[in-house]
Amino acid sequence: MIFENTLEFAKHLDLQDPLHKYQDEFIFPKVQGKKVIYFTGNSLGLQPKRTKAYVDEVMNDWANLAVEGHFYSEKPWWDYHERFADPLSKIVGALPSEVTVMNTLTVNLHLLMVSFYQPTQTRYKIICEEKAFPSDQYMFQSQVDFHSQNLGIQLEDAIVEIKRRDGEHNIRLEDVLAKIGEVGDELALVLIGGVNYYTGQVFDMKTITAAGHKVGAYVGWDLAHAAGNIKLELHDWNADFAAWCSYKYMNSGPGNASGCFIHKKHHNNAALPRFAGWWGHNKERRFKMEQTFDPIQGADGWQISNLPILSLAPYLASVDMFDEIGMDALIQKRNAITSYLEFILHEIDKEVDSSFEIITPSNPTERASQLSVLLHGEGRSLFDYLMQNGVITDWREPNVIRLAPVPLYTSFEDIYQFGQILKAGIQS
Ligand SMILES: *Cc1c(COP(=O)(O)O)cnc(C)c1O
Repeated sequence: MIFENTLEFAKHLDLQDPLHKYQDEFIFPKVQGKKVIYFTGNSLGLQPKRTKAYVDEVMNDWANLAVEGHFYSEKPWWDYHERFADPLSKIVGALPSEVTVMNTLTVNLHLLMVSFYQPTQTRYKIICEEKAFPSDQYMFQSQVDFHSQNLGIQLEDAIVEIKRRDGEHNIRLEDVLAKIGEVGDELALVLIGGVNYYTGQVFDMKTITAAGHKVGAYVGWDLAHAAGNIKLELHDWNADFAAWCSYKYMNSGPGNASGCFIHKKHHNNAALPRFAGWWGHNKERRFKMEQTFDPIQGADGWQISNLPILSLAPYLASVDMFDEIGMDALIQKRNAITSYLEFILHEIDKEVDSSFEIITPSNPTERASQLSVLLHGEGRSLFDYLMQNGVITDWREPNVIRLAPVPLYTSFEDIYQFGQILKAGIQS
């Protein structure tokens, strides 16, 4: 499509957009009395208006039924999480039995590493991306530490980072595959962020998963920036496991519950170690308070504690909304609006003498909702200007602004208006 940098054109795109009406389903903060242009849904999604009713329902059931709410609530609490299986499995491309909700993201990745990182003296290496999200780096380090006393493995040796080439902002697929081949028999686990949090680069998860398996390693994915943002086919890609948070693109509220995926092929493997708790125990027999753990045959078998229903309620509101829309419609809008933002950035860049560069891949198959902009001349003052003028973006050291035009609640008009504010900010 040929884009235009005009208000009229942006409004025309909004009229044609079947998802435009969803903007009204969200609550926007205001700056100077005007609703903001919100580009940080990759960090914390906006609150859907429908969420409050889901939370109120739990509050009311708790008030009216107290402990009886476990079984007699509108949505009983003892199996509340099972309501996620269908809609969430569609979002991540899994079988319903392969997904569950529990804990928070880093906690789940640790638990999954208990099952899928079982280093030996000869096969102990972990491949991750250079500058992985810090929580993932700390996790890798502490997991290796945890095993190192028994095995005598060294941190520097065990964690293998895939680097960007000099002068490049993104990691090449060929370099990931080469590294997997090179580490070969020593590779225990590949665990990468499916969408890079800093650049927005989308990795070819299918190809990387197959390459990891070929050398005998497990392959898992941190999908913090991928869930609700890109088309995932976790089952068909044959990923061993994955986990994601729900508060970024999935709009479930600050620090909220995580989701995870464990491939069906592992459900009955009694040899896989796991940390167990009563909520992962045989559902029919859970309340018999038996001594021996009998895991549910599915992702639910990795659950430990009974679930925080007040956290799951907003997550369910969100999952229901995604189910109503479907990932295909969402992705169609996402592609259009991200391309429009890219176009507007290039237009403004021309008008103001080059001062920034988009470091996210320009190839639409290698990016999703996020464009990361490296500021050359400008710095934090531009970021501050945008904030003061109602554009909420995200600043990353040393000099990057991340912009996520989330398709559920960003309009094409927002993108046009952002361009005008950006230009004024650079010229001020
Ligand atoms: C946001 C994010 C996290 C956050 O982890 P929590 O345990 O939810 O605090 C982890 N990994 C990646 C890649 C992220 O983007």
